[in-house]
Amino acid sequence: MDELQALKDATEPKPVVAIIGGAVAGSEAAAICADKGALAVVFEQGARPYGKIEDGLPRWHEKLREKEYRRIDENLLRDGVIFVPRTEVGRDLPWDELYREMGFSAIILANGAWRDRPLPVEGAHQYVRRGLVYQNELVYWFNHYHDDGYDGPVFEIPDDVIVVGGGLASIDVVKIVNLELYARALRARGIDVDIVEMEIKGIPKTLEAHGLTVDELGVQGCTLYYRRRMEDMPLASADDPTPEQLTKLQAARVKIMERVMRKYFVKFEPLCLPVATIVEDGRLAGIRFQKTEVVEGRVRPVEGSELDVHATMVISSIGSVPRPIAGIPVQGELYYFESWETGEVHGLPGVFGLGNVLTGKGNIKDSRANAVEIVENVVAAYLGVGDEPEEIPGGSSARTEAVAKDAAAGAPMSPAAMNALAEWIEERYGEIGYRNYRSWLAAHARHSLENR
Ligand SMILES: Cc1cc2nc3c(=O)[nH]c(=O)nc-3n(C[C@H](O)[C@H](O)[C@H](O)COP(=O)(O)OP(=O)(O)OC[C@H]3O[C@@H](n4cnc5c(N)ncnc54)[C@H](O)[C@@H]3O)c2cc1C
Repeated sequence: MDELQALKDATEPKPVVAIIGGAVAGSEAAAICADKGALAVVFEQGARPYGKIEDGLPRWHEKLREKEYRRIDENLLRDGVIFVPRTEVGRDLPWDELYREMGFSAIILANGAWRDRPLPVEGAHQYVRRGLVYQNELVYWFNHYHDDGYDGPVFEIPDDVIVVGGGLASIDVVKIVNLELYARALRARGIDVDIVEMEIKGIPKTLEAHGLTVDELGVQGCTLYYRRRMEDMPLASADDPTPEQLTKLQAARVKIMERVMRKYFVKFEPLCLPVATIVEDGRLAGIRFQKTEVVEGRVRPVEGSELDVHATMVISSIGSVPRPIAGIPVQGELYYFESWETGEVHGLPGVFGLGNVLTGKGNIKDSRANAVEIVENVVAAYLGVGDEPEEIPGGSSARTEAVAKDAAAGAPMSPAAMNALAEWIEERYGEIGYRNYRSWLAAHARHSLENR
């Protein structure tokens, strides 16, 4: 609480940065700001700060998850970082109050992508939880249903699921579905398997170990429908690949998908574009697809090639986008960034996006690297803290210009504003019962019922 005391006692202006989101990107940004001598106040909507590491990355990534938890903890425990959990910007703290009234020197959007991109089929959205399930909720359920006191959405996976997708996250979704189906079928025979172990071993080897075959179990498993070809799946990518690199990438994509099909008995249907709902008894009962062809990299629907696929559950796994926050301009389904290089938000000087909210890449490494780059090169220069910004090769990039233009534009926070901020945070802490990071996390630990 020393930081809070410092805010209360402040008599000199100091750069104070608000950060929305406390996970990979937000915590990294906070630690760097603090290292450079600014105070970082992290507003996190969740009780715990781990974001997609906890709720997105499927729970079989145990080691990676633990490693990332520790790193986020270290970042948020740094001197100069103030953590404010259970505080959703846009709801518990309106954007205008944060941006226009509190007097922060800069604001960083590190709030990731928490809204599922809507399935682009007319009328489909009304069937959410009535036959239509979106990826984010499904993965959340999978990661947490064993938690003591779990009170989130509950899904009973039927054995005729179709998944619409094609990216990395959709691979996790089809794996989740089949692992659940086979675990259930094995349980029905009195065999309790650990899903995390089955993910490592693969389903065929797990069945083999119990002397069982797929036919004996009778599980159909789910099917992934993708609008392009297997070699087009964004499972491996590179910036501007040469033709040779592209050939290699395509081979790598096919290898990844074929392995998923072998190891988890997943079925795959390429060149299928979802075009209409199939509705029965007020529920989504399947999807009408139109076959496509890929011509010079473009998807072209083939006339008269409609295909009706019936399913009790349709899972849409076509990507996640940021949740809108009233007051932050949007362009299409994303925030309106003035520049993808600097993360500056259009019309809101001093507001910068970083991590998944800016890159759109569902990738831990990219989120962290982007946070470091933007804070080191843009935010620090904007605040006039820390070292000289790095020279960007190429000279006149948008980032360099922004640094030059905005250096020292972010005024330090006034002592009066710091005192008022301390009061605001103390009041919020009182409302949610927060005392310090360690005791808060201990009180909000996740205990798995499975391990008792
Ligand atoms: C199914 C799935 C599988 C994945 N697998 C991998 C993998 O194998 N390897 C890999 O590298 N990456 C993987 N990823 C992606 C990776 O988890 C994310 O890209 C990365 O963790 C994003 O970090 P971030 O900090 O940018 O965003 P997030 O983790 O999304 O953090 C944003 C934070 O902001 C908070 N927040 C949001 N809105 C508000 C608000 N209004 N007010 C306050 N707080 C808010 C959120 O609660 C969250 O804590 C996967 C993702 C998914 C969904």
